[in-house]
Amino acid sequence: MPETPRVVVDSAVAGAAGISGCDLVVVVATPERRRGSRAAGLDAAVDAVASAAPGALVLARPPWADGEAAPLAALGVLLGCDVVWLPSGLVEAGWATALIVTWSAQSRGAQLMRRAQVAVGLAALPACRLPRMPWGVEALAMPAVGADALSRWCDRAWVPCERCELGGGAPGGPCARCGHSGVAA
Ligand SMILES: [Zn+2]
Repeated sequence: MPETPRVVVDSAVAGAAGISGCDLVVVVATPERRRGSRAAGLDAAVDAVASAAPGALVLARPPWADGEAAPLAALGVLLGCDVVWLPSGLVEAGWATALIVTWSAQSRGAQLMRRAQVAVGLAALPACRLPRMPWGVEALAMPAVGADALSRWCDRAWVPCERCELGGGAPGGPCARCGHSGVAA
């Protein structure tokens, strides 16, 4: 088992993040579309989370953004993982996931989760003051800051959620744990 926390994501997000064949990431397999595929999808999510738990960081888009991936977050909680809600947009979710995976090699425990919570907020906050550059197939304007510098920025920017114990995120952004909007600046 690697010492670093492993990240669990579904295959759509992994694809948007440009991740393939990375030891730090467990990607939920996509079952073939056929009768019973819902149960097969659930089995695949259980296998992925169980292989990475405990101590893994599960990244999931909200159920209203991707209904098929909805069980992933619940399974993460049940199996003792930290769960961070990604932005609902697939490209934004991929951008945040690519950063979080990069950081997972040198972050530990709560540090990675806090960085992840800020990254999610940055991806969802178009009015952020950081410089921007086009990213992904849709060329969305995402923060144009290197992963190392951005991780330090996230460490300083993180603010706790006023509603839940472990949650927080970017000032003014959503809590990436409970969804509470407008984390205090
Ligand atoms: Zn919260």
